[in-house]
Amino acid sequence: MQNPATDPSPLTTGQSGRDLKQILASGAALIADGAAGTMLMSAGLPAGSPPEIWNVEQPEKILSLHSAYLQAGSQIILTNTFGGNRMKLAKAGLEERVRELNLAGARLARQAAGPERFVAGDIGPTGELMEPFGPLTYEAAFEVFSEQAAALAEGGVDAVWVETMTDLEEARAAVSAALQVTGLPVLLSMSFGRRGRTMMGVSAKQAAEELWPLGLTAIGANCGEGLQVVSEVLQQMSSVLPGAPLIAKPNAGLPVIVDGQAVYDTGPQDFARQVVAYVDQGARIVGACCGSSPDFIAAIAAALQG
Ligand SMILES: [Zn+2]
Repeated sequence: MQNPATDPSPLTTGQSGRDLKQILASGAALIADGAAGTMLMSAGLPAGSPPEIWNVEQPEKILSLHSAYLQAGSQIILTNTFGGNRMKLAKAGLEERVRELNLAGARLARQAAGPERFVAGDIGPTGELMEPFGPLTYEAAFEVFSEQAAALAEGGVDAVWVETMTDLEEARAAVSAALQVTGLPVLLSMSFGRRGRTMMGVSAKQAAEELWPLGLTAIGANCGEGLQVVSEVLQQMSSVLPGAPLIAKPNAGLPVIVDGQAVYDTGPQDFARQVVAYVDQGARIVGACCGSSPDFIAAIAAALQG
């Protein structure tokens, strides 16, 4: 197998001809990227500052983050727009800059990825609780996600990736909005705890049964509590959706506190071995989340070639 870091051409045919759905249907596993937040903090992003502001204020730092992952072997990178929805940006007084920050984020990722690799527009949770647990209605969430998805599509993303969701209805609103507004392939990954459910009590089976029929291109897990739970999620999802392209993008194991700082307990080699097992379970988009770095992606690329 060719090295995806230097020769992605077998997987893609250029921006206009690329077809993510077709590649996933062929059974190929695509390598996504790893953590962004921790990398940006070590590049100087002040704690509490929304990372999306760097799409316009420090674009070269966002480009170098993307480049580091692309060089390590990422074939699909996420835009720096995880918190780029109106409700989250409002906490920093940036609610009027949703379009600007998402457009800039999409363009930077496109610039880094070029026509050969895929760019997924990153949409994370609003940070508000949905009804009946909180004030956020489905309609309001749909509106918020529509605004973000439209800007990402305008900036040239190949797909929209709704990630780290824990609430079924919020995930439904984000996926439906992205599908309706962009017409692009939409991927969904939710965040599961050690008991196999999200913080809001959603099981992998439930997520698969209720959300896959919306028209998703891939579904799975990201972030969450460790590597084992993702394996359980894949098993549950593949039993409900045999043959569907699944996503596995877990944290680098579990956090442990060292000198007052959270560090994750799994290194790149052990992580990559687990990722090979995920592919055997049906994962077709694999990557890493909190606590990871380009070293993890390079280890995955090497392991998948072996
Ligand atoms: Zn994470």
